[in-house]
Amino acid sequence: MNAEPITKVVIVGGGTAGWMAATALAHIMGKLPSFSITLVESEAIGTVGVGEATIPQIIGFNRMIGLDEMEFMRETRATYKLGIEFVDWLRLGHSYVHPFGTHGIDMLGIEFQHFWIRGKALGDTASIDEYSIAAMAGKAGKFDWPRPDTKSPMAKLAYAFQFDAARYAAFLRKKAEAAGVRRIEGRVVEVEQESETGHVAALMLDNGTKVEGELFVDCSGFRSLLLGQALDVPFSDWSHWLPCDSAVAVPCTLGGRNEPLTRSTARSAGWQWRIPLQHRIGNGHVFASDHLDRSEATDLLLANLDGEPLAEPNQLSFKAGHRARAWEKNVVALGLAAGFLEPLESTSIHLVQSGIARLMSLFPDKSFSEVEIARFNKETEREYSDIRDFLVLHYHCTERDDSDFWRYCRNLEMPDGVLEKIEMFRRSGRIFRENNELFTEASWLSVMLGQGVVPLTHHPVARLLDETETLNRLAHIRKVIEQTAQQLPTQDQFLQQRGGA
Ligand code: FAD
Repeated sequence: MNAEPITKVVIVGGGTAGWMAATALAHIMGKLPSFSITLVESEAIGTVGVGEATIPQIIGFNRMIGLDEMEFMRETRATYKLGIEFVDWLRLGHSYVHPFGTHGIDMLGIEFQHFWIRGKALGDTASIDEYSIAAMAGKAGKFDWPRPDTKSPMAKLAYAFQFDAARYAAFLRKKAEAAGVRRIEGRVVEVEQESETGHVAALMLDNGTKVEGELFVDCSGFRSLLLGQALDVPFSDWSHWLPCDSAVAVPCTLGGRNEPLTRSTARSAGWQWRIPLQHRIGNGHVFASDHLDRSEATDLLLANLDGEPLAEPNQLSFKAGHRARAWEKNVVALGLAAGFLEPLESTSIHLVQSGIARLMSLFPDKSFSEVEIARFNKETEREYSDIRDFLVLHYHCTERDDSDFWRYCRNLEMPDGVLEKIEMFRRSGRIFRENNELFTEASWLSVMLGQGVVPLTHHPVARLLDETETLNRLAHIRKVIEQTAQQLPTQDQFLQQRGGA
């Protein structure tokens, strides 16, 4: 066994994944003696050029690499995000918010939703959104930082960012290079492997440069240059569950409401995203090419912008799923090189981040222990399938039957994990979170209710409050949340005051 430490890391790709990995590795591993990080990227190939909405975990990543939040907001023209507004997903004309954070407050030792379900039976017509500070502040265009040590609803506020992905990668590049990462411009044209082990030994670039390494991080995007192409790790195809396989993206000038929310509007064969930044709005139409052709999808997108297009539409194709093993031999793939799940819940950048965290905690030595590799792959697989299940929920639980696409989604056979969750919630309003999965009970609650899954009854303890007391407490919670949201600064005021604009 060769337990010598690894000192030469080579990253292929300078998209969001490549520069996130470079910055984090430099920050944490870069202090080890003789440790070097080289990143190879090809400007001629470019990056995927989309990927702008995130989830709250990114705050932890930015802090870990020492970013100042306001500098980050300015540099990436970022806005805040308090959740996702889903329009026309249940039926045309209907909308709901999947907010970050929790709803209401737990009472008598049981979860809030049981009191909300009881309130409904007693005639309360308020939607679950009205019990979420993130949903109410988001809809009102308001933002402020959480106040964790108070009794205010702001104690439990969670937030994320919407940013310009190209600017984020450039911002990280500056940080990484300052921390010692060496960047090489060039196109990888050949991958040299050791004859005995099949490990990647070196990359040959189009300009004749040879880049040798011990651990290779594949951040080459959909090409999956090392993991998919050189090491031939197969792709687990999940397109029968998630049939969207195409997207067209276009930024436009600012227009319409500029709230701290990402919007997802269901269309006849997919959905359209709207991500407002400080200087423009990112838009895209994700669709199933079996049900809609590209030119119609592009026309539909261009006909539904809140401003003037700022570029030619960017056409993309993909397949839902992931590489069967994200780590094989001495190659670890991150980002699109490892897999892709459509951006319905803004999870791709998070998957990069969690892959980096996992790589850090299982960082190998030259023996490349199979036990650690297996652990990495098992956790990665679980994370992808948990997210997949949550995405499938959005498509399957719908009343829409106005197109073949929606009829397909309504009738598709669901993964077992989702069926169990829906069945339990429908019966008794209970929700469980397994293996510390990414989406919490609060997320499942908002999306199940938003997609029309209605519980038949609630926990018996909710009956310990009499009818009047139940309705009074619910009204009080709503009032406090609404008043708190109204008193917050607007997002624009907040950014101006704090120096983030
Ligand atoms: P890329 O950006 O494609 O980068 C690949 C890099 O590899 C480039 O630098 C390229 O030059 C380099 N490269 C490739 N081949 C070679 C070679 N032969 N030699 C040298 N260099 C090479 N994520 C979110 O979190 N939120 C979102 O809202 C979101 N929206 C998305 C919408 C769509 C339609 C798509 C497709 C993705 C979206 N994503 C989103 C995902 C997000 O864009 C990516 O996860 C993220 O940008 C990481 O991409 P990447 O770095 O893996 O790949």
